[in-house]
Amino acid sequence: MGLLDGKVAIITGASRGIGKAIAETFIAQGATVAFTYLSSEEKAKALENELTANGGTAKGFKSNAAEFDAAQKLADEVMEAFGAIDVLVNNAGITRDGLLMRMNEQQWDEVINTNLKSAFNLTKAVLRPMLKARKGSIINMSSVVGVSGNAGQANYAASKAGMIGFTKSVAQELGSRNIRCNAIAPGFIETEMTAELDEAVVQGWRDNIPMKRGGTPADVANTTVFLASDLSAYVTGQTINVCGGMLC
Ligand code: NDP
Repeated sequence: MGLLDGKVAIITGASRGIGKAIAETFIAQGATVAFTYLSSEEKAKALENELTANGGTAKGFKSNAAEFDAAQKLADEVMEAFGAIDVLVNNAGITRDGLLMRMNEQQWDEVINTNLKSAFNLTKAVLRPMLKARKGSIINMSSVVGVSGNAGQANYAASKAGMIGFTKSVAQELGSRNIRCNAIAPGFIETEMTAELDEAVVQGWRDNIPMKRGGTPADVANTTVFLASDLSAYVTGQTINVCGGMLC
């Protein structure tokens, strides 16, 4: 028996990194998984094959989370394929870092549209099926920098802080309909991307974390399972920091 047996989940941005770990963990817990990606065709196909190899039900969709109409089309296609949407994980995200002095309008717009507007787009798109079913769990992937801010990431921190305000508002609007909405704020999570960074720099980051290690995508995925499952049936409007104690 899995914690997510019988649930259909949409996970945005799952071709790699944290989203991929969420898709793998959701399948292991019995969910049916619809995941999206922007351009990584091959990685998405490989993931679809991996998720379905042991009898799991999963499908990858190429869908730009920053586009309102694309989100609606995705929700329609997932309803057609799987007949329900019980869980939405707004995970797709990008960075376009730079000090404010040098940050241009395009860097600002791309980050806000991909990270924050996407959450609006997808949440709007899944509302009808969730309202009809009188249940649902929406999980927004924020970041510790959305809580604390970060020099060189004004656009990213604003998008992630925006997600937290959005999360609390959705929770208040939809609680009476048994639709929950929570955020996760990961700290420093070690992925393929961070594996390419200078080891001494990364070790310095680890040393500053109370738990003395970076997080793993699985650490974030396990928290996502909790919020997606009925174990968190009375939890809504919350932000869970998955950061090894970085933010206390
Ligand atoms: P990655 O860069 O490894 O993966 C990002 C994923 O999002 C990819 O699957 C990518 O698809 C997809 N994506 C990007 N833009 C779009 C779009 N417009 N529409 C649909 N999909 C898109 O990210 P991480 O795994 O590191 O991060 C995942 C989330 O966690 C992000 O929201 C990030 O901000 C957040 N986070 C990450 C932390 C970390 O330390 N890694 C810390 C705190 C928060 P494709 O491969 O096709 O480009």
